[in-house]
Amino acid sequence: MSTPSQDPWLLTPGPLTTSAATKEAMLHDWGSRDATFIATNARVRENLLKIANAAYTHVCVPVQGSGTFAVEATLGTLIPKDGKALVLINGAYGQRMVKILDYAGRASVSYETAEDTPPDPDDISTLLEGDSDITHVLAVHCETTSGILNPIEAIADVCKQHKRSLIIDAMSAFGAIELDASKVHFDAVMASSNKCLEGVPGMGFSLIRKSVLEECSGNAHALSLDLYDQWVAMEKNAQWRFTPPTHVIVAFDSAIEQFFAAGGVEGRFKRYSENAQILIAGMKELGFKTLLSHNLQAPIIITFEMPTDPNFDFDVFYERLKDQGYIIYPGKLTVAPSFRIGCIGDLGKEHMHGVLDVIKSVLKEMNVRGAQPKAI
Ligand SMILES: *Cc1c(COP(=O)(O)O)cnc(C)c1O
Repeated sequence: MSTPSQDPWLLTPGPLTTSAATKEAMLHDWGSRDATFIATNARVRENLLKIANAAYTHVCVPVQGSGTFAVEATLGTLIPKDGKALVLINGAYGQRMVKILDYAGRASVSYETAEDTPPDPDDISTLLEGDSDITHVLAVHCETTSGILNPIEAIADVCKQHKRSLIIDAMSAFGAIELDASKVHFDAVMASSNKCLEGVPGMGFSLIRKSVLEECSGNAHALSLDLYDQWVAMEKNAQWRFTPPTHVIVAFDSAIEQFFAAGGVEGRFKRYSENAQILIAGMKELGFKTLLSHNLQAPIIITFEMPTDPNFDFDVFYERLKDQGYIIYPGKLTVAPSFRIGCIGDLGKEHMHGVLDVIKSVLKEMNVRGAQPKAI
């Protein structure tokens, strides 16, 4: 793949390595009211709905900023001031939604499991049965903190059964792990330009059930984060209310075109799964241990337990990998010291084999013998 060789490969949860075509798409300037830009913006919105098979039921509302802006905007717009959310937490992004609700003055309760443990649908059912004030359930599809895949279909079924509104943070899964609106009942799903769709950072979006959004006038606590207002204005004249991130949108349009050409969700899932497989097998051979068992692991980012060999120093390891062109990511876990290596972005087999070769030689240089973590 075609990034200039001086850029390091980003084995992170985002921003990610993008293709040359995506970067080249940004080498122009566009007026936000110009017909060409307006058509591009409309195409991006339509295509995002298509990816989730949601064009008949949902609308796509984009918002400036990183993914968190889209989460904050969606929660503030959809959950009324007298609403109450049940937040399913098994990592930092579930925690962040609770913080967002606190800022917005929305009531919430949490159901927290350990970072390596998905929520149990039966527990969710019991919680919903016991608290009729809960109007919304907030779930994270792939919790990027660990890389765990949460059982979104089962969660959606429980919400539907109890007639509660489901809002999904699919930031690090959207485009790589299937989420089909005709099979999974959700009222909103949020993601951003710079994760599995391999655009550049700067824009988030929410696919929101149209019949739900129509009822959301006046809910939002912040003008720039009011997705109802953003939607109504964009439907009226196809323009953004406030300065759009033009270059981000045009790059995103190109990235989405490349995404479809490479087989859409199925193609991306396949490439990332191969990346994950190569990485996990190679790291295990070097003695590293993954936090998650195979059945819980999404092919997005892999958490490895920190080796206990006294010669292993993560900062040195990180710097030496960086010197050889690979950026990895520190851990964010509370359960165990760890680090993460991503398998998403415009990267393939050669990059996974490449980073494994570098890790092998760096371990040798550092005089780390076996990379096994301490037995627990
Ligand atoms: C990346 C990510 C976000 C958004 O993070 P930003 O830094 O604001 O882009 C939210 N949720 C999940 C699960 C993520 O992986």
